[in-house]
Amino acid sequence: MVKNENEKGFVDIINGRYKPRGTFHVPEANQPIINKDTGKLAGVTNPRDMTYIHSYGSEAIFFESLGKGKLIASRCDNDKCETKGSIYEPFRIFCPDCLRRATPIDISDKPATIHSFIVTHRSGAFNSLPLPIKFINVEFDKEVVTILMSVLAVGEPEIGNIVVPIFRTKAPTYTIMDLMFVPEGTPESELPEGFTF
Ligand SMILES: [Zn+2]
Repeated sequence: MVKNENEKGFVDIINGRYKPRGTFHVPEANQPIINKDTGKLAGVTNPRDMTYIHSYGSEAIFFESLGKGKLIASRCDNDKCETKGSIYEPFRIFCPDCLRRATPIDISDKPATIHSFIVTHRSGAFNSLPLPIKFINVEFDKEVVTILMSVLAVGEPEIGNIVVPIFRTKAPTYTIMDLMFVPEGTPESELPEGFTF
């Protein structure tokens, strides 16, 4: 259901404290489940409409940067760490080897290729991506020791093809939905609505 402004929940942080305002739980009438073969009651539906408050903590820089056209990863810069220099994308707040805080870095221009892919014709609930969804595992150059799961927005995926990130810079959602990839050389005019390089 489409909610009006009075039925939405908003959160601000003021003086270091979360201050929710508005409506976070919208009541809705339930419905009986009737067995059409017997005419008897079998159960009820249980509608639930709630707004969840999801805190990003130190990952906030990753999501905020997507809307500004930047792909942020993190790198361990600890001299005493055996894996110093390793870069993590998806963004990790802490190095998994030494547990020290990693340094956010911009990898928007790092070369990236399709490591593998899955084409999904049937999605789950709340999907907003166009079907079929071309999920790609993105492999960056060797300093990046992890693989990023994303979506190919234009063309067909092929293992080894070079891809570049695109960002929802017009009206960002501040979620992972602000990041997709396209084949290198894709003209800006072919990007999805609201996306730029
Ligand atoms: Zn480390």
